Amino acid sequence: MLTQAPKGTKDILPGEVYKWQYIEKIISEVCNTFGYKEIRLPVFEHTELFQRGVGDTTDIVQKEMYTFLDKGGRSISLRPEGTAGVVRSYIENGMASLPQPVKLYYNITAYRYEKMAKGRYREFHQFGVEAFGSTGPSIDVEIISILSTVFNKLGTNEIKLNINSIGCPKCRGEYNEKLKEYLNPKLHHLCELCMTRYNRNPLRIIDCKEEKCKEHTKDVPALVDNLCGECAEHFEGLKAGLQNLGIAYNVDKNIVRGLDYYTKTVFEFVSENVGTQGTVCGGGRYDGLVEACGGVATPGIGFAMGLERLLLEMESRGIHIPEPKGIDLFIANIGEKAFKFAQKLVYELRNKGIAAENDVVGRSLKAQMKYADKMGADYVIVLGDDEILNGKAMLKNMKKGDQKEVSLESISQIFNK
Ligand code: ATP
Ligand code: MG
Repeated sequence: MLTQAPKGTKDILPGEVYKWQYIEKIISEVCNTFGYKEIRLPVFEHTELFQRGVGDTTDIVQKEMYTFLDKGGRSISLRPEGTAGVVRSYIENGMASLPQPVKLYYNITAYRYEKMAKGRYREFHQFGVEAFGSTGPSIDVEIISILSTVFNKLGTNEIKLNINSIGCPKCRGEYNEKLKEYLNPKLHHLCELCMTRYNRNPLRIIDCKEEKCKEHTKDVPALVDNLCGECAEHFEGLKAGLQNLGIAYNVDKNIVRGLDYYTKTVFEFVSENVGTQGTVCGGGRYDGLVEACGGVATPGIGFAMGLERLLLEMESRGIHIPEPKGIDLFIANIGEKAFKFAQKLVYELRNKGIAAENDVVGRSLKAQMKYADKMGADYVIVLGDDEILNGKAMLKNMKKGDQKEVSLESISQIFNK
């Protein structure tokens, strides 16, 4: 136990961290271009926030949260997603008084007690975006276009977009009655949880992952075919906007998504490469959420993308992520005088932004050369007593294999950023 990470967690080791840095850099560049600002929030919140902000009929709240009492007796939960915290912060920090829409993004770890599978962990990473204060479908289109831009830049544009509308409380109320009528004779075939959902939130039955529930819900009447006038118009606006930008989509009438507060637009980006459910990213509009969490009624829309799944997709497609460059200069040093000189020179070079290294473990010259090679050094210089005495040394270009004599004073000038 002592030397084993908890189930469902994964170390990101130095040898692969460059992949994360690469996608994170592209993501933040794209978000900045679209005018979205980063927000950083606590890893834990009051449990009540997620009960409200994610919804207590969801799988996340019912089954997956890491909840505990802190030493002050408060019920605390590790964030299972990012939206609830952002909404809490929007309200707490009075962001309603900022020019709207307020456009935010985050890059977080999230925690869910789930069965482990491909692309499914207990600690995972989410990149998410939220936009508050805009009612019309154009912000829905903008949010989706952030993702298509990220996918274009990463070379993952084969990830497919599915969209749907789950209406507003008005059309959903009417639809729920239709749905219940349809499900009533099948009720005893559904899982226990779905039986309780039947009265509390029947729409969630469509999203159940149990095979028997899936079987009995595959031909349910679709909400998107039963929208009120305003929601239908919104959905048309979304489709027209996507067409205008040339973003391909498919209408999937079965998308419900995992949050209780979604209204109108819901969408997913899917790929067969990323595990059982195949969802790389999910999002939607949540016009009721800010109010439900205690703020003034404010429309909102957002998405969250699992970065482990994005990396899985890139790996499956063989997309190459550029590896970081090795060190610029390795100084092999033999003896006390050479070590002292090298130590100082390396410090000077590093201050100029040059990736320089010298031997700090007392290796033999042969072992130092081997090490330099392993570290991918572009250049190597060998310093011993003679070199220090003469003020000259051989500078070897490791890629070309040639070398030339240089004065020790000139090294700092040769390596300039
Ligand atoms: P799924 O259907 O796969 O359970 P979800 O509907 O629970 O996904 P969301 O709550 O919408 O997912 O989270 C958004 C994204 O976060 C998902 O599309 C996925 O990429 C990622 N994600 C969710 N749960 C996990 C997990 N346990 N491990 C890794 N990534 C996850
Ligand atoms: Mg899930």
